[in-house]
Amino acid sequence: MTLALGCIADDYTGASDLANTLTRAGLRTVQTIGVPAADLALPEVDAVVVSLKSRSIEAGLAVTRSRAAENWLRGRGAAHILFKICSTFDSTDAGNIGPVMDALRADSGDPIVLVTPAFPETGRTVYQGNLFVGSVPLNESPLKDHPLNPMHDSNLVRVLARQSRTKVGLIDLATLGRGVEAVRAKLADLAAKGIGAAIVDAVFDRDLETIGQVALDHRVSVGASGIGLGLARALVAGGTVKADAASALPDVAVGGPAACLAGSCSQATLQQIANAEQVMPVLHLDPERVVTGKDEVQRALAWAKDRIKDRTGDGPILIASSATPDEVAGLQSRHGRDAAGHAIEQAMADIAEGLVQAGVRRLVVAGGETSGAAVDRLRIPGFLVGAEIAAGVPVLRAVGMTSGDMLLALKSGNFGGPEFFSDALALMR
Ligand code: ADP
Repeated sequence: MTLALGCIADDYTGASDLANTLTRAGLRTVQTIGVPAADLALPEVDAVVVSLKSRSIEAGLAVTRSRAAENWLRGRGAAHILFKICSTFDSTDAGNIGPVMDALRADSGDPIVLVTPAFPETGRTVYQGNLFVGSVPLNESPLKDHPLNPMHDSNLVRVLARQSRTKVGLIDLATLGRGVEAVRAKLADLAAKGIGAAIVDAVFDRDLETIGQVALDHRVSVGASGIGLGLARALVAGGTVKADAASALPDVAVGGPAACLAGSCSQATLQQIANAEQVMPVLHLDPERVVTGKDEVQRALAWAKDRIKDRTGDGPILIASSATPDEVAGLQSRHGRDAAGHAIEQAMADIAEGLVQAGVRRLVVAGGETSGAAVDRLRIPGFLVGAEIAAGVPVLRAVGMTSGDMLLALKSGNFGGPEFFSDALALMR
């Protein structure tokens, strides 16, 4: 297998978003959890997105892990590697965007790297090097108060220069508007001046296509899902990839018992659980008992096992820890926010593990952290990305599992329509 595109994402949800974007653009895409084993068996795909958790760790560690991902992707033939960062450029002056970019550029031999977090369809645009979040510059957006990476400067040329060993230049919108050749000439000009990275303006979708075409001349680029979309479209337009993402999915249904887990306490999820009560048995965990012992997990698994026999009329089921804001606040004040959250995530992971051991092959999980805990516990090496259930939430087919095929749907709290659980299961055959 020769990958047309390799991606290294600095967090899991960003990786899922990119993998979904590439799939929608027609690329057969696998997302892996961490750097895969050397011998991971993959179906024939166009792109692999390696998910790391390297956004806020120490810079040297982020570089080491990114390089391990790079080696794996190059080993599978990836001619181009996208380092996927957050579309709000989340980072500090200590990194990690600059240090990882410097390392990947050094390994690739590229004189200059294109960098843009722009993704106009989600309101992230870059003009004169300044990143806008919706209608306001980054430093006036809620990101100025981010707990880990507060962003106080919207000028990405300056931000990146503070993190990188190379000088940083700008490809402005006017140059972009003059087309691919103008951008190539400007890049060559910057590279000749010893500038190793260029922030690229992008305000419209078509700008991403120009950027994608030019980026493919290089071995590395840096950006969010927007440049991923540009690269995917350029690969399809250039004939390197046939836009046929669905062909990667095996025709055979996975079948088997189905279960849903909800750890998200978002408004949307609470409504989705209420609607699910009409069509499937729902067990509401007692959060107090979850935090104080293991009995609640055992009770949930015993309840589930009685109901997930794979016979017509049996299953699916839903197990939820979700509670109203007042109940959540009460539990947090008794046990501490982090301790309560962590205990419930681990209990949900225990339940996911028990369900799969009991034969569940189709699993829907609501909640970003809850999904992460479940996927880590199940030791799923990666996913083939399938059809979208709701915007940003695809059906995932596990790859590289020794215990056989499995389908998952993982959603962040606010995603999905009111019938999300039924919608998901209808597509997870
Ligand atoms: P979302 O995607 O909606 O943010 P997450 O799963 O990321 O959902 O986060 C929800 C957090 O709330 C998790 O840490 C989870 O363990 C915790 N949690 C779940 N149920 C409760 C509850 N009843 N009380 C307090 N915290 C809870």
